[in-house]
Amino acid sequence: MPFDLLLKGGEVIDPNAGYSGRLDIGITRNRITAVEPNIPPESAFQVIDVSGHYVAPGFIDLHTHYLPGTYWGLEPDAIGARTGVTTWVDAGSAGAMGLADFRDSAAALMQARSFAFVNISYIGLIGPNYEMTNPEYSNVELLKRAISQNRDIVAGVKIRAGRSGGGVDLTPFKRARRAADELGLRLMMHISGAPPELEEVLPFLKSGDVLTHAYNGRTMRLIEDNGKIREVAKRAVESGVLLDVGHGAGSFSFVSAEALIPQGYAPYTISSDLHWMALYGHRVQDSQVILSRGDAPDDDAGSVLVDIVGGREPAFDLLNCLTKMLHLGMSLPQIVEAVTAHPATVLGVEGEIGTLKPGAYADIAVFDVVAEGIDLYDVHGEHRHADRQFKHALTVLNGRVWEQQPLPKPPAWLRFVDEEAS
Ligand SMILES: [Zn+2]
Repeated sequence: MPFDLLLKGGEVIDPNAGYSGRLDIGITRNRITAVEPNIPPESAFQVIDVSGHYVAPGFIDLHTHYLPGTYWGLEPDAIGARTGVTTWVDAGSAGAMGLADFRDSAAALMQARSFAFVNISYIGLIGPNYEMTNPEYSNVELLKRAISQNRDIVAGVKIRAGRSGGGVDLTPFKRARRAADELGLRLMMHISGAPPELEEVLPFLKSGDVLTHAYNGRTMRLIEDNGKIREVAKRAVESGVLLDVGHGAGSFSFVSAEALIPQGYAPYTISSDLHWMALYGHRVQDSQVILSRGDAPDDDAGSVLVDIVGGREPAFDLLNCLTKMLHLGMSLPQIVEAVTAHPATVLGVEGEIGTLKPGAYADIAVFDVVAEGIDLYDVHGEHRHADRQFKHALTVLNGRVWEQQPLPKPPAWLRFVDEEAS
């Protein structure tokens, strides 16, 4: 009896591994051990018929927030189980001071796989904003010590460029560059509202670094008013900087994406920037209706008002971001690569996750693309109508079917702060 679990008859889509078409997937313990056209059902203890569904490697969301006790940090497992996101990458919630806690109270306790970009500011994103207001928080030696003790879960160094990060002082940028170089790590840079200006900060990025919120519509957007890519952004991409979506609650503009993608600047990775506001909307209030894209959150999800009445729509979840990218003209294989093989490359774990090749961990997303119309909004209220959308079917994590669980309640203190969302 070679297989513990067999996913039978699905439409496999893993361009990077060279798989497409109807294939069965055999799983032994927590690894994929066969991808073949016709594996006999009697060769497995458990057989799941996934015919009619797409089957891809479990999704890797390269930009999320889930460090407990921080402003943005949600609990990821319930969301992962209903969206196929089997690997979560926290983008800078922890700085040097919070990294040990990230390991103990986030990574070690969650079911999904977990990595972190570590904030150059040692306080990380414990509050919503201004982590770099004091440049002395950007302490290279402290960061290096913290990372060297947690290297197995570290994806790179994170820095937020913009008013929300708190600064026009470029000292933290110099230090983040130095730390990344000395540790041999990638830098992930967030861009939003100037200052600082794009021209001041993008030159800190090198080949292989990640520019997140690349399709934002704020003053640090990558396009000129006429829609052409800005010269400084063009140079960054030509030097090998990778574009990431990082939708969030404030960082995705149809105008930017519709200008950039046809010019050849499609995202290398599609991430949700999921945090409390990106999941539930800008306004978290006491007693109001619960609205969400697709499945409404469970009744016990808390009292939440999603501010889509005025059209400003957050990410909701990674699948909703994928629906937007499909509407914007990315092909299904391109989209799958941008949430599997590409982020696995950024994490340096190719062959382990983000692939269905035998030997990889058995993390698998089973989903549909249904011909069902959907009204989409960006964070500025721009509306588009898409005629197809992604829907979740089943998630396998580490060789086991990931059971659905109730969505977590947002923490009470979120509503104390009415900040511009990141
Ligand atoms: Zn973020």
